[in-house]
Formats: sequence, C-alpha cells, structure tokens
Amino acid sequence: MTEKQSCPTCESVRDVELTEQEETVAIKGRDVRFKARMYRCTTCGEEFETPEQLDMNLEAAREVYARLFEAPSPEQLVALRARYNASQKAFGMILGFGELTVNGYEHGAEPDSTNRLLLKLAENPAIFKAMYDINSSRIGALQRQRIESSDAFRSSESWKGLEAIASALTQVQRAKIEECAECYSMTILETVREYVSAGSFEDYSSLVMHPTYSSGSVSILAPKAGQTLAMGIQAAS
Ligand SMILES: [Zn+2]
Repeated sequence: MTEKQSCPTCESVRDVELTEQEETVAIKGRDVRFKARMYRCTTCGEEFETPEQLDMNLEAAREVYARLFEAPSPEQLVALRARYNASQKAFGMILGFGELTVNGYEHGAEPDSTNRLLLKLAENPAIFKAMYDINSSRIGALQRQRIESSDAFRSSESWKGLEAIASALTQVQRAKIEECAECYSMTILETVREYVSAGSFEDYSSLVMHPTYSSGSVSILAPKAGQTLAMGIQAAS
C-alpha cells in the first residue's frame, strides 16, 4: 500500500512507506524503549514522523512507562481482581501476599516493586493460573469455585502456553480456532498444537489468515489440499 506524504528532505510530496523503529526516550529519568511508527521516503530514504505520528509515539512511550514504572491505581486493581471473581483475601493469597495487603492497595497503599511485578503478571491469565495452582490450597472451596468459573481464569485453560500465538492473532482468528476446536471436540491447545506441529508458524498463520470458512463446513482452518492432520481430519476438497 503506497501512501503519499510531504518529505521534509525532498521538500516535496513523495511515496512513503510506514515503518516501525525501536526507540528509546527518557521519561522522568528512566529509559523507555518503545516502537515508534514513522514514514520512510521511498525516494531519499529519509525517515520522518508526521505530527499525528509524533503524538501517537509519545503516547506509546507514556504507556510503556506507565506499565513499567507506575503502580497500578486502586481502580485498576479492583478491575483486575474482578476479572478473576476473587475476594480481596483470596486474590492476595494466590499472589502470595498477606491477608490484608490487597485491601490496603485498593485503598491507595502503594505496592513495593516486587508486588507491583506480581500484580502486573497476574493480568496474564496463564500466569495467574500458575500462581493459583501453587496457592489455591490456602483459600476456601467457595472462593476456588468462584475463581475457577470466571471467564478470565477459564481463558487461561483455553490458551495456556499459547500466549505468543494468541497475542499474534486477531479476535476473529481466535474465535475461528475456538469454533474449530469445538466442532472437532478438541481443546484449544490440541487444535493449535496440531497446526503448529504440522508446519511452521507462518503456515499456521496463513491458514488462519485465509480461512475458507462457511458455516457447517469442515474447512475452517483446513490444512492445505492433500494434507491430513495427525488426528485424521481430511482436508475439505
Ligand atoms: Zn525524501
């Protein structure tokens, strides 16, 4: 896709391509590394940012800074805990905090850097699940039931160990895999494993990127013509 922008070096409107560069900026004395989006002039090779891109890049840097160095707000912590349907006490136990620690944080006490990291990691359902597996015996049966039935917790089961792939997929692609898994009565993990082990991730990506989907068809995510998946599903012809 070719775009045209005014190149500051050529001082003329040129064809440009969108590029992404890793950049480091200092915010409040800390180095923050982030991906900056900019244009590259296809004529002179100059890379430049439009005012809109500059704003977006600053915002991206600020986001990285907040993620790395700022304590989560009480509201964010309440929201995180709510995703797992956990009581303050149970949530604290799972993360390895004291009984009253989460209550303190939700009332404005600032977590130290270790606990801040644990809270950050707990946003990832797969990691939360790992913490839960270690500490769930410390909480009551009712709390376990509530947590295990939360959507966030259950998503850890579905995509466990597949974080990198899951994050590389769009919502639509994920939905298709889920649907596929359901119609073959396989787990998400089994479904994805089949595709990943059958070929490279690129092959897998292109399969999900160009699905020949029609309702009730077995060709969602179907392997290339002639290939047969290990579990014996025939490619739709
Ligand atoms: Zn130029």
